[in-house]
Amino acid sequence: MKKLALHWKILIGMLLGVIAGLALSQFDSGKTFIIDWVKPVGTIFIKLLKLIAIPLIIASLIKGISDLKDIAKFSRMGLRTIIIYIMTTIIAITIGLTLVNIVQPGNSISEETVQQLNEAYNTSATKRFDSAQDQKAKGPLQFVVDMVPDNIFSASSNNRNMLQVIFFVILFGISLLLVEEKKSKPLKDFFDSLNDVIMKMIDLIMLMAPYAVFALLASLIAETTNPDVFAALAMYSLTVIAGLLCMIGVYLLIVTIYVGKSPSFFLKGISPAQLLAFSTSSSAATLPVTMERVEEHLGVDKEVTSFVCPVGATINMDGTSLYQAVAAVFICQAMNFELSLTAQLSIVLTATLASIGSAAVPGAGMVMLVAILEALNVPKEVLMVGLALIFAVDRPLDMLRTTINVSGDAAVSMVVGKSVGKLRDPKPKHWDDHYEG
Ligand code: ASP
Repeated sequence: MKKLALHWKILIGMLLGVIAGLALSQFDSGKTFIIDWVKPVGTIFIKLLKLIAIPLIIASLIKGISDLKDIAKFSRMGLRTIIIYIMTTIIAITIGLTLVNIVQPGNSISEETVQQLNEAYNTSATKRFDSAQDQKAKGPLQFVVDMVPDNIFSASSNNRNMLQVIFFVILFGISLLLVEEKKSKPLKDFFDSLNDVIMKMIDLIMLMAPYAVFALLASLIAETTNPDVFAALAMYSLTVIAGLLCMIGVYLLIVTIYVGKSPSFFLKGISPAQLLAFSTSSSAATLPVTMERVEEHLGVDKEVTSFVCPVGATINMDGTSLYQAVAAVFICQAMNFELSLTAQLSIVLTATLASIGSAAVPGAGMVMLVAILEALNVPKEVLMVGLALIFAVDRPLDMLRTTINVSGDAAVSMVVGKSVGKLRDPKPKHWDDHYEG
């Protein structure tokens, strides 16, 4: 009998999770049950995915670079990747700004609702504001300085330092290429084999995915406090969602026209990663799955995937930048803070930088939103109320924007793969061994 494909299993898990969450959170004991007994399954799964992220980047990037056999190829690919990433981000922000100006969601919200949301969410908003202040107080080149580690062991001991690890690994991979073949071979063989073992670990972790998404969604629903605010913020949320859907359209167009693959090929290949991005709200946690899908199901060679995907997970966040543009303008509209055309255009630059600076973890986009609002000279009081305003719907929007962030990384990987002649017909060999008979 043909077994169900992975994305169906995950979807069923998500659906059952929502149903169980809704049913059990009608009673206090049901909520406690979900939080005590179901949530840990989701937490363990996210921890396992994060556990694998740094070793995966090390093994696959070193293998990827050393397979290239030529540094010029690597720099050509690197430059293209960064340029395409910036271009998709600018498209996303432009879509967000256009939609928020057409729909004007901030003008449909009453003073009274602003007041109520502010009272309900001010404390949580203050926390995000404070984390943003910690990130500030640094010079403009600080992010480049931060990219260079001074100790590889401490860098790899924290998943937030992914860019530092990538920096070290690129330097290592390039040096490996420069060393005489006879001398580099043992190390290359070691990393090849490490890479295979880590891929197998991902296979094993993914066996848990359908149950884990059940747990993640059920506990998310059990922990949601006040569903009424969703209605008040409906116009704002719909604007963000419409923008995100447009971005999916942009990716499908690029994949069809430039790469020459059908939309269903792309969506079928990447859907398990999208579903996990939705359930975990973290591109970093989804990275192992994104890489596996792009390589084995979308047919992009390891040399490309191993560089483009981890870099994308950390710096390319189209969904986040679109959301940040919409949210910034929405807050200004709702708080009657006039924004000139130049101020709106400056958002293109600040949101690009903010999305590069946003960590690939839940809620990071909202922290960086503070920087965008500050660059617009929004006074602190307005800013605090503004953050409180959008806080209630941030999690569901985070789930959706993370899905777009991951889809963008996959689409760009295909574009880069095609442009350097590293796209082939995919030969799935990992999870489908388990999932499809
Ligand atoms: N959660 C997002 C991600 O991991 C970042 C954000 O927008 O908050 O991609």
